[in-house]
Amino acid sequence: MVHSQRGQMNAAPLDTSAVAYLRNSARGDVIFPEDIEYDEARRVFNHMIDRFPAVIVRCTDSDDVARAIDFAYVNELPVAIRGGGHSVAGHSTCDGGLVIDLSLMKSVTVDPDDRTAIAGAGLTLGELDRATQQHGLATPLGIASITGIAGLTLGGGVGWLNGKHGLTCDNVLSFEIVTADGRKLHASPDENADLYWALRGGGGNFGVVTSFEYRLHRVKRVLGGMVVHPLDRARDVLRFYREFAAASPDELSTLASLGTSPDGDPIVVVSSCYSGPIEDGELVLKPLRKFGSPLLDGIGEKEYLELQGMKDAGFPHGNQHYWKSGFLYEISDEAIEVLIDSARSRPSTLTGIGLQHVHGAATRVAPEATAFAHRAEYFDCPALTQWRDPSEAEPNIQWAREHWNAMKPHFGQGVYLNNLGEEEVEQVQAAYGANYQRLAEIKSRYDPENIFRLNQNVPPAPAR
Ligand SMILES: Cc1cc2nc3c(=O)[nH]c(=O)nc-3n(C[C@H](O)[C@H](O)[C@H](O)COP(=O)(O)OP(=O)(O)OC[C@H]3O[C@@H](n4cnc5c(N)ncnc54)[C@H](O)[C@@H]3O)c2cc1C
Repeated sequence: MVHSQRGQMNAAPLDTSAVAYLRNSARGDVIFPEDIEYDEARRVFNHMIDRFPAVIVRCTDSDDVARAIDFAYVNELPVAIRGGGHSVAGHSTCDGGLVIDLSLMKSVTVDPDDRTAIAGAGLTLGELDRATQQHGLATPLGIASITGIAGLTLGGGVGWLNGKHGLTCDNVLSFEIVTADGRKLHASPDENADLYWALRGGGGNFGVVTSFEYRLHRVKRVLGGMVVHPLDRARDVLRFYREFAAASPDELSTLASLGTSPDGDPIVVVSSCYSGPIEDGELVLKPLRKFGSPLLDGIGEKEYLELQGMKDAGFPHGNQHYWKSGFLYEISDEAIEVLIDSARSRPSTLTGIGLQHVHGAATRVAPEATAFAHRAEYFDCPALTQWRDPSEAEPNIQWAREHWNAMKPHFGQGVYLNNLGEEEVEQVQAAYGANYQRLAEIKSRYDPENIFRLNQNVPPAPAR
């Protein structure tokens, strides 16, 4: 049997006995280009990424993962790992290679007494939150419930609980992983501690994580929502926001964004989540609610789950995405002017610019304590360029590049790994910051041949 491999010219035919063995031995689905599910299975969140893998293995357990790695090795196929498939850079798919798709691995076990959860690598944020919220518990995740926990956790994970409980990666107690040589390892502070360190911010470089053990916290009802102003008032709103965010207690995490209202009007929004006692939150959020004359004050007491889904509508299925980002350590008046000009000149009303406050517990971890190095207080500032029609790509990409160039003098050191687009190879070292060299050394121990290179790649350090 010779399998066609669209997208990769001159690819060698796959080893037929290996194909038969994989089909017969895998418990999950093995999908080739001629299979009916192929077109749907190869799709990722970012529809600008349109790739044609030689084979997709939808794994059900770590044995399937080990088989898939072995198959790729025998056939000399590049390997992409897909958790939730939301990497805007498109790292969870490839042309002519093998995709290890973990989307069937959605088991969750919550231990409410120990306040821990063991979560399969194919879960989305919403799925994990729903399981833990049944016990009034949560681990810090991101702000869009549709994204995957795997890529988010491995790259850091910034969300509404970062001030109080840190980043997602700070709340991982252990990992189950299959490494490049097919070994199944447990990584924790006591076992394979170097790997445990590297997986908390080092991305998909070290193997295929099959499950995450998270620490959980009591979170059930929170005070939060969006306060919306017209873009015309963005200068005052953002100047207010920088003071307000700087004074936030750990319990309050916020995000300012410039975008478009459901009615099509340009707006500036401050979104918030207060995760302490509601009556304290009322006082803390009062200045934000009183400031100016908002078009909408959507702050109120809510189920945490409701807040976690608050941003989903901004990321509908099927759109094209191109992101560029940086860290703002200070929201200067000059940076505010660039942000407003860019918001006004967006070619697509679907595009937004965010300023997500990283503070509190997330900043009280030493930069070298985990692979995630950026532990000062800052605003993660991505331009989330988004459009529907593929023919609109060029002006949108051009806008994002011009915006980023204008912001560059205002950005400080570092960039968030999980925001990097596919063209930003030169930014990868900055994303790992001071931990890059140590990551390269650990990479050389666990993946010396760089089998897992379709990611924000850290090549193995040369042997000394
Ligand atoms: C709409 C949207 C909103 C977002 N909001 C936030 C936010 O609030 N906070 C935040 O921190 N980030 C946010 N992000 C960024 C998000 O963290 C990344 O897109 C992340 O990569 C998504 O994880 P995933 O599993 O869906 O991605 P995938 O595309 O599946 O994977 C991303 C990377 O991780 C690797 N990987 C995935 N699974 C595994 C695994 N099991 N083992 C080893 N490597 C693996 C892949 O190879 C790839 O390199 C957002 C992204 C989107 C698209």
